[in-house]
Amino acid sequence: MSFENLGLVEPLLRAVHEAGYHTPTPIQTQAIPAVLTGGDLLAGAQTGTGKTAGFTLPLLHQLATKPLPPGRRVVRALILTPTRELAAQVEESVRVYGKYLPLKSMVMFGGVGMNPQIDALRRGIDILVATPGRLLDHHQQGTLDLSHVEFFVLDEADRMLDMGFIHDIKRVLGILPAKKQSLLFSATFSDEIKALAERLLNSPKVIEV
Ligand code: AMP
Repeated sequence: MSFENLGLVEPLLRAVHEAGYHTPTPIQTQAIPAVLTGGDLLAGAQTGTGKTAGFTLPLLHQLATKPLPPGRRVVRALILTPTRELAAQVEESVRVYGKYLPLKSMVMFGGVGMNPQIDALRRGIDILVATPGRLLDHHQQGTLDLSHVEFFVLDEADRMLDMGFIHDIKRVLGILPAKKQSLLFSATFSDEIKALAERLLNSPKVIEV
């Protein structure tokens, strides 16, 4: 199996090769074609399996190949992570893999000033990687419009629940448009994760590595 066989657009293949990847990992081989069909996904994968590229590559493909909403740049993809460190890492991956695409990303987390984030949002972004608390702060203040989100990823969902983010996650789900493609990644599948998956995902493809 090669990245070429997975159906990704050429600018992504170029970036992947520049990153030095030759062969997709098992989670990538399964997740990428599944996401490209447009359906929801429930994926069981630990850190270190290549899961980040497993969702960022097809997410970038979907955004690059779907028509741009008319007018100003709007947030079309939201990736939620439990920690700042993970948010920063994921956004770095989005930048690396998306370097040949005309898409803008931003990372947003708490513990830093709101104003630079507000300025960046005003300038317009396509892909937002965020931790739940700060995301909700911006939404509440009216500085973040999530009404155009087409693509939603919940990364390390089990860790989010362990950290007590269930209420924040439910609030975010209540804000997002009903019609969207959603992916849930988790290393483990407790009953709580299954309940969350049931609430978020529509007939998801289930993969585990
Ligand atoms: P992750 O599980 O997403 O945290 O990724 C673990 C590490 O594997 C990261 O440093 C990636 O850069 C690297 N990686 C991801 N996909 C591949 C691949 N197909 N070939 C080689 N390395 C990869």
